[in-house]
Amino acid sequence: MSKVLIGIDKSKSYRVYLTITTDLVEEARRIHDTTPLATAGLGRVLTGAGLMGLFLKNKEDKVTVQFKGDGPANQILATATGGGYVKGYIANPDVELPLKENGKLDVGGSLGIGQLTVIKDMGLKEPYIGNIALVSGEIADDLTAYFFISEQQNSSVALGVKVDRDLSVLSAGGMIIQMLPDAEIRSVDALEEMLDKLKPLTTIIEEVVLRAAGRTQEGILVELCETIFASMPLEYHPEILEYRDLNWNCDCSRERLEQVLITIGKEDLQEMVEEDGQAEMVCQFCEKKYFFEKEQLEQIISQI
Ligand code: ZN
Repeated sequence: MSKVLIGIDKSKSYRVYLTITTDLVEEARRIHDTTPLATAGLGRVLTGAGLMGLFLKNKEDKVTVQFKGDGPANQILATATGGGYVKGYIANPDVELPLKENGKLDVGGSLGIGQLTVIKDMGLKEPYIGNIALVSGEIADDLTAYFFISEQQNSSVALGVKVDRDLSVLSAGGMIIQMLPDAEIRSVDALEEMLDKLKPLTTIIEEVVLRAAGRTQEGILVELCETIFASMPLEYHPEILEYRDLNWNCDCSRERLEQVLITIGKEDLQEMVEEDGQAEMVCQFCEKKYFFEKEQLEQIISQI
């Protein structure tokens, strides 16, 4: 289970969402058996989407964050709820590319030129859909641009995933800072200066987790928050509003996969029955397999 710290500074200039998602991203890696590059891309999208889910008002509200490009990863998608559940997948979990010059995994190159689409389903007739061209494909930059262009929200997004030599996730986390309408200019400047000098998030997380070993997740997040904002003037340090949970969860079911089968169409289903006498459907989010016998398929066909 991951926790999210939500804080606000005394002057009410900004709000911060901060999380360590090492376990969550490791779970996704195990499910999808991803290469380090795919783990980094998927982990960043899962963490970003997970935090964006917590912006939603109701538990049942959903946000889907889709990165689609002409690069070899093709697509990374995550869906998160207001209740703190997140799931996701990468179209090509085997994607591999040479490291970038700075030694980092080339998530931007794996996505290439493409688009970021954000769909917010808040139980209204029509979902809200925002769409921008990818800025770098490195995920955090693209989400920052999305907030600015589509939601007129000044934000700073930092996302990181570090993969260990044995391919497991060493550390992962995310931070979104949202400027509030009456932000004081001094706090904006101080934040910019702080972010400019900030070490990579995964590096800070590793240091803090070592230092705060034995403490609760909340305790570790407080230590992380204090470390990140240490260089800010005291009056602009965040105060904690609340902690929220963030968990991997796939809500797929037989009924849901049946609906997917129906979209295949009567003729193609008929062909499936005649040629294979059965069907196997795999949930793209959690890789769970669902088998449909001949009689079940025929029943579905009769319903179309
Ligand atoms: Zn599933």
